[in-house]
Amino acid sequence: MLHTVSEPSRSIPVIAHPDVLVAGGGPAGAAAAWGAARAGASVLLVERHGFLGGMLTAGGVRNVRQYTDHRRLIIGGFAQAYANRLCAAGGSPRPPGDGPFFRQDPEISKFVLQSLLEEAGVRLLLHTLVVGATLAGEQLHAVLIENKSGRQAIQPRIAVDATGDGDLIARSGAAFEKADGCLQPMTLTFTAGGIAFWPNGFNSDARRRIEKALQMGTFPCPKRPGLFALERPGEYYFNATRVAGDATDAASLTRAELEARRQVMGLLEWLRRNIPGCENVFLIQSAPHIGLRETRRLKGLYTLCREDVLEGREFEDGIARNAYGIDIHNPDGPDGIMIHLEAGRSYTIPYRCLVPEKRDGLLAAGRCISASRDALGSTRVMAPCMAIGQAAGVAAASCARQNLQPRQIDAAALRRLLIEQGAIL
Ligand SMILES: Cc1cc2nc3c(=O)[nH]c(=O)nc-3n(C[C@H](O)[C@H](O)[C@H](O)COP(=O)(O)OP(=O)(O)OC[C@H]3O[C@@H](n4cnc5c(N)ncnc54)[C@H](O)[C@@H]3O)c2cc1C
Repeated sequence: MLHTVSEPSRSIPVIAHPDVLVAGGGPAGAAAAWGAARAGASVLLVERHGFLGGMLTAGGVRNVRQYTDHRRLIIGGFAQAYANRLCAAGGSPRPPGDGPFFRQDPEISKFVLQSLLEEAGVRLLLHTLVVGATLAGEQLHAVLIENKSGRQAIQPRIAVDATGDGDLIARSGAAFEKADGCLQPMTLTFTAGGIAFWPNGFNSDARRRIEKALQMGTFPCPKRPGLFALERPGEYYFNATRVAGDATDAASLTRAELEARRQVMGLLEWLRRNIPGCENVFLIQSAPHIGLRETRRLKGLYTLCREDVLEGREFEDGIARNAYGIDIHNPDGPDGIMIHLEAGRSYTIPYRCLVPEKRDGLLAAGRCISASRDALGSTRVMAPCMAIGQAAGVAAASCARQNLQPRQIDAAALRRLLIEQGAIL
């Protein structure tokens, strides 16, 4: 049996030459496209789903963390524009800053994100996967995509990898790290209704029953379920399932989706049988895609580390601020690490974390920037991902305008442009 086949070489049609190509339309990618377009660049955003939002929508993650350092707002710009528009559209009951997280309705977010990007002049190409890259020396020459039209190419001046998984980083041969064997676990989120103790959480009797089942190995999920009351009576958002695996491996990702769905159905049944008030619980919706926390991390000009986060370090080339602590979920059991930053403390993320060690014409944004595993535990939440994305987009637009490489950008000038776009540095 053959173990490889050879694909005949062929010419691929180039369908666009934008100043900036953004790969992935999650919190970071949407912000990058918006920032680049508002900085005057022609922008094309390619997204594999039929809607924007990434984990915010496809992952069903309803709580955007965190806009504040518990004393003041520390994230503005795109993240603020999104929050204002979402509140006005009825997609959130409270503005950011009013509590530990900003609640969002994924269905309204899909429309708010597309509206913001369309108004900024971003061209969208949905249902399209970034699958490859060609190089001219160290320079990214073209990005290869696949969709229902077949295989096509895009030749941007600068590309931003906002795929969360660093797909373009990997395809273009830029260096990255991946903690094989101990990646943070995946979680299929879901919403359920018919719960009588709404809007309160589990009472002490319910928590005792869950603990006992976990100890006896009869609980259907490896972790204690997190549940958050939604606006409609009886309805909750569940962050409850947990599956170890590697989302950059299709077979592992498939196993994770199947196992997580088994956990959802098992948990609902367990709740019906064991927790007073849950006798009539019913599933409303599971997220379209299992939630991803950790895969590839770029090896950049600087790697953000644990001490940078915990000591609240400030960098001269800081392009985004973050006050979320280190939150690492354990792939092998119910527990994890959560280290909070004290109220009033935050740190900045250096621009160098977005720039590959070696590879030109490419920037990273969001979950796949250059950070240690501990630091990723902090940067991975959605408000800082938006702030990082906006910075990547504005930097990419500056590169295109001035015919510079990302490593040649003047960080002080970039910071000024970001502040003009409402960023809080
Ligand atoms: C279960 C769970 C709970 C969480 N809880 C919270 C929370 O309470 N608060 C919070 O703020 N954060 C939370 N997070 C973290 C947060 O949701 C993510 O880290 C964040 O969304 C990362 O943003 P991103 O834009 O970098 O990546 P993503 O949100 O992963 O977006 C990446 C986008 O790129 C697209 N894409 C991927 N590959 C390709 C490709 N090859 N071609 C084209 N498109 C591609 C994807 O479809 C997606 O739209 C949670 C995460 C999980 C999984």
